[in-house]
Amino acid sequence: MAWKTLDDMDFAGKRALVRVDINVPVENGVVTDTTRIERIIPTVDDIQEKGGKVILMAHFGRPKGQVVSEMSLEHIAPAVADVLGLPVTWVNSDYADAVAEMEDDEVLLLENLRFNPGEEKNDTGFAKRLASLGDIYVNDAFSAAHRAHASTEAIARLLPSCAGRLMAEELGALEKALGTPERPVVAVVGGAKVSTKLDLLGNLVGKVDHLVIGGGMANTFLAAQGINVGKSLCEHDLADTARDIRAKAEAAGCEIILPRDIVVAREFKAGAANETVAPDACPADAMILDAGPATVAYISEVLEKAKTLVWNGPLGAFEIAPFDAATNAAAAKAAELSKAGKLISVAGGGDTVAALNQAGAADDFTYISTAGGAFLEWMEGKELPGVAALG
Ligand code: ADP
Ligand code: MG
Repeated sequence: MAWKTLDDMDFAGKRALVRVDINVPVENGVVTDTTRIERIIPTVDDIQEKGGKVILMAHFGRPKGQVVSEMSLEHIAPAVADVLGLPVTWVNSDYADAVAEMEDDEVLLLENLRFNPGEEKNDTGFAKRLASLGDIYVNDAFSAAHRAHASTEAIARLLPSCAGRLMAEELGALEKALGTPERPVVAVVGGAKVSTKLDLLGNLVGKVDHLVIGGGMANTFLAAQGINVGKSLCEHDLADTARDIRAKAEAAGCEIILPRDIVVAREFKAGAANETVAPDACPADAMILDAGPATVAYISEVLEKAKTLVWNGPLGAFEIAPFDAATNAAAAKAAELSKAGKLISVAGGGDTVAALNQAGAADDFTYISTAGGAFLEWMEGKELPGVAALG
Protein backbone atom coordinates (compact mmCIF):
# COMPACT_ATOMS: atom_id res chain seq x y z
CA MET A 1 0.00 0.00 0.00
CA ALA A 2 1.17 3.50 -0.79
CA TRP A 3 1.21 6.42 1.57
CA LYS A 4 2.76 9.84 1.23
CA THR A 5 5.65 11.04 3.35
CA LEU A 6 6.83 14.49 4.40
CA ASP A 7 8.81 14.62 1.14
CA ASP A 8 5.61 14.61 -0.90
CA MET A 9 4.09 17.65 0.81
CA ASP A 10 4.71 21.37 0.50
CA PHE A 11 4.82 22.77 4.02
CA ALA A 12 5.94 26.32 3.17
CA GLY A 13 3.66 28.73 5.00
CA LYS A 14 1.39 25.86 6.07
CA ARG A 15 0.23 24.62 9.44
CA ALA A 16 0.76 20.91 9.99
CA LEU A 17 -1.45 19.00 12.40
CA VAL A 18 0.83 16.25 13.62
CA ARG A 19 -0.60 13.23 15.48
CA VAL A 20 2.10 11.92 17.80
CA ASP A 21 2.40 9.36 20.58
CA ILE A 22 3.88 11.08 23.62
CA ASN A 23 2.12 8.82 26.09
CA VAL A 24 5.26 8.74 28.24
CA PRO A 25 5.59 7.17 31.69
CA VAL A 26 5.14 9.69 34.51
CA GLU A 27 5.93 9.12 38.18
CA ASN A 28 5.06 11.74 40.80
CA GLY A 29 4.56 14.31 38.04
CA VAL A 30 7.97 13.65 36.49
CA VAL A 31 8.44 12.16 33.02
CA THR A 32 10.69 9.15 33.64
CA ASP A 33 11.38 8.12 30.03
CA THR A 34 11.42 10.61 27.15
CA THR A 35 12.05 8.04 24.37
CA ARG A 36 8.66 8.58 22.76
CA ILE A 37 9.22 12.34 22.64
CA GLU A 38 12.72 11.93 21.22
CA ARG A 39 11.34 9.85 18.38
CA ILE A 40 9.15 12.69 17.04
CA ILE A 41 12.10 15.09 16.67
CA PRO A 42 12.86 14.25 12.99
CA THR A 43 9.27 14.98 11.96
CA VAL A 44 8.97 18.24 13.89
CA ASP A 45 12.36 19.49 12.66
CA ASP A 46 11.66 18.51 9.08
CA ILE A 47 8.32 20.31 8.92
CA GLN A 48 9.83 23.46 10.41
CA GLU A 49 12.81 23.31 8.03
CA LYS A 50 10.38 23.07 5.15
CA GLY A 51 8.73 26.28 6.37
CA GLY A 52 5.74 24.76 8.12
CA LYS A 53 4.33 25.32 11.59
CA VAL A 54 3.77 22.37 13.89
CA ILE A 55 0.63 21.71 15.92
CA LEU A 56 0.93 18.53 17.96
CA MET A 57 -2.09 16.35 18.74
CA ALA A 58 -1.79 13.52 21.23
CA HIS A 59 -3.57 11.42 23.82
CA PHE A 60 -2.48 10.59 27.33
CA GLY A 61 -3.81 7.70 29.40
CA ARG A 62 -7.42 6.59 29.26
CA PRO A 63 -9.62 9.49 30.43
CA LYS A 64 -12.59 8.00 28.51
CA GLY A 65 -14.00 11.22 27.05
CA GLN A 66 -13.78 13.25 30.25
CA VAL A 67 -11.45 15.92 31.56
CA VAL A 68 -9.15 14.26 34.08
CA SER A 69 -6.68 16.87 35.27
CA GLU A 70 -3.87 14.38 36.06
CA MET A 71 -4.01 13.32 32.42
CA SER A 72 -3.68 16.85 31.05
CA LEU A 73 -0.90 17.30 28.53
CA GLU A 74 -0.04 20.48 30.39
CA HIS A 75 2.15 18.25 32.61
CA ILE A 76 4.00 16.84 29.60
CA ALA A 77 4.52 20.12 27.72
CA PRO A 78 7.73 21.12 29.58
CA ALA A 79 9.35 17.76 28.76
CA VAL A 80 8.33 18.15 25.11
CA ALA A 81 9.87 21.64 25.01
CA ASP A 82 12.99 20.32 26.65
CA VAL A 83 13.47 17.40 24.30
CA LEU A 84 12.56 19.32 21.13
CA GLY A 85 14.58 22.35 22.20
CA LEU A 86 11.71 24.55 21.02
CA PRO A 87 9.10 26.76 22.66
CA VAL A 88 6.04 24.57 23.26
CA THR A 89 2.69 26.14 24.11
CA TRP A 90 0.04 23.91 25.59
CA VAL A 91 -3.51 25.00 24.70
CA ASN A 92 -6.79 23.80 26.14
CA SER A 93 -9.18 26.48 24.81
CA ASP A 94 -9.39 29.14 22.09
CA TYR A 95 -7.48 26.87 19.74
CA ALA A 96 -8.17 29.04 16.69
CA ASP A 97 -6.71 32.13 18.38
CA ALA A 98 -3.63 30.23 19.52
CA VAL A 99 -3.08 28.92 16.00
CA ALA A 100 -3.50 32.41 14.50
CA GLU A 101 -0.88 33.83 16.85
CA MET A 102 1.75 31.10 16.44
CA GLU A 103 5.37 32.07 15.93
CA ASP A 104 7.32 30.17 13.25
CA ASP A 105 9.41 28.03 15.59
CA GLU A 106 6.70 27.74 18.22
CA VAL A 107 5.07 24.34 18.65
CA LEU A 108 1.48 24.14 19.82
CA LEU A 109 0.43 21.15 21.88
CA LEU A 110 -3.33 20.61 21.95
CA GLU A 111 -4.94 19.24 25.11
CA ASN A 112 -5.34 15.47 25.52
CA LEU A 113 -7.54 14.42 22.59
CA ARG A 114 -9.24 11.74 24.66
CA PHE A 115 -10.80 14.38 26.93
CA ASN A 116 -13.27 14.76 24.07
CA PRO A 117 -15.69 11.83 23.66
CA GLY A 118 -15.55 12.37 19.90
CA GLU A 119 -11.95 11.20 19.70
CA GLU A 120 -12.41 7.50 20.42
CA LYS A 121 -15.76 7.48 18.56
CA ASN A 122 -13.98 8.59 15.38
CA ASP A 123 -16.50 11.42 15.31
CA THR A 124 -16.47 13.43 12.09
CA GLY A 125 -17.58 16.61 13.88
CA PHE A 126 -14.61 16.47 16.25
CA ALA A 127 -12.28 15.60 13.36
CA LYS A 128 -13.58 18.64 11.45
CA ARG A 129 -12.84 20.92 14.39
CA LEU A 130 -9.31 19.58 14.57
CA ALA A 131 -8.88 19.78 10.80
CA SER A 132 -9.96 23.44 10.78
CA LEU A 133 -6.80 24.29 12.74
CA GLY A 134 -4.35 23.18 10.05
CA ASP A 135 -3.66 22.72 6.34
CA ILE A 136 -1.90 19.35 6.28
CA TYR A 137 -2.36 16.25 8.46
CA VAL A 138 0.70 14.23 9.44
CA ASN A 139 0.37 10.95 11.31
CA ASP A 140 3.52 10.03 13.23
CA ALA A 141 1.82 7.76 15.75
CA PHE A 142 2.06 4.21 14.39
CA SER A 143 1.36 2.90 17.88
CA ALA A 144 -2.13 4.47 17.71
CA ALA A 145 -2.79 3.40 14.10
CA HIS A 146 -4.71 0.24 15.03
CA ARG A 147 -7.48 2.41 16.43
CA ALA A 148 -9.93 4.29 14.19
CA HIS A 149 -10.11 7.51 16.17
CA ALA A 150 -10.94 11.06 15.06
CA SER A 151 -7.26 12.07 15.18
CA THR A 152 -6.00 8.95 13.40
CA GLU A 153 -8.72 8.09 10.88
CA ALA A 154 -11.52 10.63 10.32
CA ILE A 155 -9.15 13.59 10.10
CA ALA A 156 -7.04 11.90 7.43
CA ARG A 157 -10.06 11.98 5.13
CA LEU A 158 -10.50 15.75 5.62
CA LEU A 159 -7.00 17.12 4.89
CA PRO A 160 -4.09 16.31 2.59
CA SER A 161 -2.36 13.60 4.65
CA CYS A 162 0.97 11.90 4.97
CA ALA A 163 3.05 9.74 7.29
CA GLY A 164 5.63 11.37 9.55
CA ARG A 165 9.24 10.16 9.66
CA LEU A 166 8.71 7.73 12.53
CA MET A 167 5.56 6.27 10.99
CA ALA A 168 7.29 5.91 7.61
CA GLU A 169 10.30 4.24 9.25
CA GLU A 170 8.09 1.80 11.13
CA LEU A 171 5.96 0.96 8.08
CA GLY A 172 9.07 0.54 5.96
CA ALA A 173 10.63 -1.89 8.44
CA LEU A 174 7.43 -3.91 8.77
CA GLU A 175 6.90 -4.04 5.02
CA LYS A 176 10.43 -5.40 4.61
CA ALA A 177 9.79 -8.06 7.23
CA LEU A 178 6.43 -9.45 6.17
CA GLY A 179 5.11 -7.51 3.16
CA THR A 180 7.70 -8.37 0.54
CA PRO A 181 10.40 -10.09 2.60
CA GLU A 182 13.59 -11.68 1.42
CA ARG A 183 13.25 -15.42 1.94
CA PRO A 184 13.62 -17.64 3.81
CA VAL A 185 11.57 -15.88 6.49
CA VAL A 186 11.61 -17.14 10.08
CA ALA A 187 9.05 -16.12 12.68
CA VAL A 188 9.64 -16.69 16.37
CA VAL A 189 6.47 -16.63 18.42
CA GLY A 190 6.67 -17.21 22.12
CA GLY A 191 5.10 -15.94 25.29
CA ALA A 192 2.57 -17.27 27.66
CA LYS A 193 -0.57 -18.37 25.87
CA VAL A 194 -1.74 -19.63 22.50
CA SER A 195 -5.16 -18.06 23.12
CA THR A 196 -3.76 -14.51 22.93
CA LYS A 197 -1.89 -15.25 19.70
CA LEU A 198 -4.28 -17.33 17.58
CA ASP A 199 -4.67 -14.72 14.85
CA LEU A 200 -0.94 -14.20 14.84
CA LEU A 201 -0.13 -17.88 14.34
CA GLY A 202 -2.89 -18.22 11.75
CA ASN A 203 -1.48 -15.37 9.67
CA LEU A 204 2.16 -16.36 10.00
CA VAL A 205 1.85 -19.98 8.88
CA GLY A 206 0.68 -18.70 5.51
CA LYS A 207 3.52 -16.21 5.17
CA VAL A 208 6.73 -17.53 6.67
CA ASP A 209 8.97 -20.49 5.85
CA HIS A 210 9.80 -21.48 9.43
CA LEU A 211 7.73 -20.80 12.53
CA VAL A 212 9.44 -21.28 15.89
CA ILE A 213 6.90 -21.75 18.66
CA GLY A 214 8.32 -21.24 22.13
CA GLY A 215 7.40 -20.26 25.65
CA GLY A 216 4.24 -21.44 27.33
CA MET A 217 2.56 -21.69 23.91
CA ALA A 218 4.87 -24.51 22.92
CA ASN A 219 3.51 -26.56 25.82
CA THR A 220 0.04 -26.45 24.30
CA PHE A 221 1.44 -27.76 21.01
CA LEU A 222 3.39 -30.51 22.78
CA ALA A 223 0.33 -31.53 24.77
CA ALA A 224 -1.69 -31.63 21.54
CA GLN A 225 0.71 -34.36 20.36
CA GLY A 226 -0.19 -36.42 23.39
CA ILE A 227 2.89 -35.45 25.39
CA ASN A 228 2.51 -35.08 29.15
CA VAL A 229 3.61 -31.58 30.14
CA GLY A 230 3.22 -32.04 33.90
CA LYS A 231 2.37 -28.82 35.71
CA SER A 232 3.43 -26.58 32.84
CA LEU A 233 1.41 -23.60 31.75
CA CYS A 234 -0.72 -25.21 29.06
CA GLU A 235 -4.08 -24.60 27.41
CA HIS A 236 -5.33 -28.16 27.07
CA ASP A 237 -8.64 -26.97 25.62
CA LEU A 238 -6.76 -25.62 22.60
CA ALA A 239 -5.38 -28.98 21.50
CA ASP A 240 -7.62 -29.04 18.41
CA THR A 241 -6.61 -25.49 17.54
CA ALA A 242 -2.94 -26.39 17.84
CA ARG A 243 -3.46 -29.38 15.53
CA ASP A 244 -5.33 -27.15 13.04
CA ILE A 245 -2.46 -24.68 12.99
CA ARG A 246 0.00 -27.50 12.33
CA ALA A 247 -2.14 -28.82 9.48
CA LYS A 248 -2.43 -25.35 7.98
CA ALA A 249 1.34 -24.92 8.24
CA GLU A 250 1.97 -28.23 6.56
CA ALA A 251 -0.35 -27.34 3.69
CA ALA A 252 1.42 -24.00 3.28
CA GLY A 253 4.91 -25.51 3.38
CA CYS A 254 5.78 -23.79 6.66
CA GLU A 255 8.04 -25.72 9.03
CA ILE A 256 6.81 -25.60 12.62
CA ILE A 257 9.70 -25.72 15.07
CA LEU A 258 8.87 -26.87 18.58
CA PRO A 259 11.32 -27.38 21.47
CA ARG A 260 13.72 -30.29 20.88
CA ASP A 261 14.69 -30.27 24.53
CA ILE A 262 13.09 -28.58 27.52
CA VAL A 263 14.25 -27.06 30.79
CA VAL A 264 12.03 -28.17 33.65
CA ALA A 265 11.78 -27.03 37.26
CA ARG A 266 9.48 -27.60 40.23
CA GLU A 267 9.30 -23.96 41.29
CA PHE A 268 8.58 -20.80 39.30
CA LYS A 269 11.35 -18.71 40.80
CA ALA A 270 14.79 -17.38 40.00
CA GLY A 271 17.54 -19.93 40.43
CA ALA A 272 15.11 -22.84 40.90
CA ALA A 273 16.76 -26.26 40.60
CA ASN A 274 16.26 -27.43 37.02
CA GLU A 275 17.20 -30.03 34.47
CA THR A 276 17.21 -30.32 30.71
CA VAL A 277 15.30 -33.28 29.33
CA ALA A 278 13.66 -34.54 26.12
CA PRO A 279 10.36 -32.83 25.20
CA ASP A 280 8.37 -35.90 26.24
CA ALA A 281 10.13 -36.33 29.57
CA CYS A 282 8.67 -33.57 31.75
CA PRO A 283 8.15 -35.09 35.23
CA ALA A 284 4.51 -35.04 36.37
CA ASP A 285 5.29 -32.63 39.22
CA ALA A 286 7.45 -30.22 37.17
CA MET A 287 6.88 -27.46 34.66
CA ILE A 288 8.58 -26.49 31.42
CA LEU A 289 10.10 -23.03 31.83
CA ASP A 290 12.48 -22.77 28.89
CA ALA A 291 13.77 -24.44 25.75
CA GLY A 292 17.12 -26.23 26.00
CA PRO A 293 20.44 -25.91 24.14
CA ALA A 294 19.55 -28.40 21.38
CA THR A 295 16.55 -26.24 20.51
CA VAL A 296 18.70 -23.12 20.47
CA ALA A 297 21.26 -24.88 18.26
CA TYR A 298 18.57 -25.76 15.75
CA ILE A 299 17.04 -22.26 15.81
CA SER A 300 20.54 -20.86 15.20
CA GLU A 301 21.00 -23.19 12.25
CA VAL A 302 17.70 -22.00 10.74
CA LEU A 303 18.58 -18.35 11.38
CA GLU A 304 21.95 -18.85 9.65
CA LYS A 305 20.14 -19.77 6.45
CA ALA A 306 17.39 -17.16 6.79
CA LYS A 307 17.22 -13.68 5.31
CA THR A 308 14.41 -12.28 7.44
CA LEU A 309 13.24 -12.72 11.04
CA VAL A 310 10.13 -11.47 12.80
CA TRP A 311 9.94 -12.06 16.52
CA ASN A 312 7.20 -11.72 19.10
CA GLY A 313 7.28 -13.42 22.48
CA PRO A 314 10.09 -14.86 24.61
CA LEU A 315 11.08 -18.54 24.35
CA GLY A 316 10.87 -19.07 28.09
CA ALA A 317 10.09 -17.43 31.43
CA PHE A 318 12.80 -14.84 30.71
CA GLU A 319 12.08 -12.74 33.81
CA ILE A 320 13.59 -15.42 36.04
CA ALA A 321 17.14 -16.65 35.44
CA PRO A 322 18.25 -19.16 34.28
CA PHE A 323 15.02 -19.55 32.30
CA ASP A 324 16.06 -16.64 30.09
CA ALA A 325 18.83 -18.75 28.52
CA ALA A 326 17.12 -19.81 25.28
CA THR A 327 15.69 -16.33 24.67
CA ASN A 328 19.08 -14.74 25.31
CA ALA A 329 20.99 -17.18 23.11
CA ALA A 330 18.57 -16.97 20.17
CA ALA A 331 18.49 -13.18 20.51
CA ALA A 332 22.29 -13.04 20.53
CA LYS A 333 22.42 -15.16 17.37
CA ALA A 334 19.87 -12.96 15.60
CA ALA A 335 21.72 -9.83 16.71
CA GLU A 336 25.05 -11.19 15.45
CA LEU A 337 23.62 -12.09 12.03
CA SER A 338 21.84 -8.73 11.77
CA LYS A 339 24.97 -6.83 12.67
CA ALA A 340 26.87 -8.72 9.97
CA GLY A 341 24.23 -7.65 7.43
CA LYS A 342 23.05 -11.22 6.88
CA LEU A 343 19.61 -10.96 8.43
CA ILE A 344 16.80 -8.42 8.53
CA SER A 345 15.37 -8.71 12.02
CA VAL A 346 12.21 -7.06 13.29
CA ALA A 347 10.83 -7.59 16.78
CA GLY A 348 8.03 -6.14 18.86
CA GLY A 349 5.79 -6.72 21.88
CA GLY A 350 6.07 -5.39 25.42
CA ASP A 351 7.80 -8.39 26.98
CA THR A 352 9.76 -9.13 23.82
CA VAL A 353 11.36 -5.69 23.79
CA ALA A 354 12.16 -6.07 27.49
CA ALA A 355 13.67 -9.52 26.88
CA LEU A 356 15.80 -8.36 23.94
CA ASN A 357 17.02 -5.38 25.93
CA GLN A 358 17.84 -7.67 28.83
CA ALA A 359 19.75 -9.90 26.42
CA GLY A 360 21.71 -6.88 25.17
CA ALA A 361 20.57 -7.75 21.64
CA ALA A 362 18.06 -5.00 20.89
CA ASP A 363 20.54 -2.48 19.47
CA ASP A 364 21.72 -4.85 16.77
CA PHE A 365 18.26 -5.82 15.58
CA THR A 366 17.29 -4.13 12.32
CA TYR A 367 14.15 -2.72 13.85
CA ILE A 368 12.52 -2.90 17.24
CA SER A 369 8.92 -1.81 17.27
CA THR A 370 7.69 -0.20 20.45
CA ALA A 371 4.16 0.07 19.06
CA GLY A 372 2.68 -2.76 21.16
CA GLY A 373 -0.89 -3.47 20.04
CA ALA A 374 -0.41 -1.89 16.59
CA PHE A 375 2.65 -4.09 15.95
CA LEU A 376 0.74 -7.22 16.91
CA GLU A 377 -2.28 -6.36 14.77
CA TRP A 378 0.03 -5.71 11.86
CA MET A 379 1.74 -9.08 12.44
CA GLU A 380 -1.71 -10.63 12.51
CA GLY A 381 -2.21 -9.35 8.98
CA LYS A 382 -4.92 -6.86 9.93
CA GLU A 383 -5.40 -3.57 8.16
CA LEU A 384 -4.58 -0.68 10.49
CA PRO A 385 -7.24 2.06 10.09
CA GLY A 386 -4.76 4.86 10.76
CA VAL A 387 -2.48 3.58 8.00
CA ALA A 388 -5.29 2.76 5.56
CA ALA A 389 -6.62 6.31 5.93
CA LEU A 390 -3.32 7.72 4.70
CA GLY A 391 -3.57 5.79 1.42
P1 ADP B 1 4.82 -9.94 24.47
O1 ADP B 1 4.44 -8.97 25.57
O2 ADP B 1 6.18 -9.65 23.93
O3 ADP B 1 3.76 -10.03 23.38
P2 ADP B 1 3.79 -12.20 25.95
O4 ADP B 1 3.12 -11.27 26.90
O5 ADP B 1 2.95 -12.96 25.02
O6 ADP B 1 4.92 -11.41 25.12
O7 ADP B 1 4.64 -13.30 26.73
C1 ADP B 1 5.54 -13.01 27.76
C2 ADP B 1 5.31 -13.87 28.97
O8 ADP B 1 5.37 -15.25 28.66
C3 ADP B 1 6.39 -13.63 30.00
O9 ADP B 1 5.80 -13.12 31.16
C4 ADP B 1 7.01 -15.01 30.22
O10 ADP B 1 7.35 -15.27 31.56
C5 ADP B 1 5.88 -15.92 29.79
N1 ADP B 1 6.40 -17.27 29.47
C6 ADP B 1 7.23 -17.62 28.49
N2 ADP B 1 7.51 -18.93 28.55
C7 ADP B 1 6.84 -19.44 29.60
C8 ADP B 1 6.71 -20.74 30.18
N3 ADP B 1 7.35 -21.80 29.67
N4 ADP B 1 5.93 -20.88 31.27
C9 ADP B 1 5.29 -19.80 31.79
N5 ADP B 1 5.36 -18.55 31.29
C10 ADP B 1 6.12 -18.37 30.22
MG1 MG C 1 3.16 -9.20 27.28
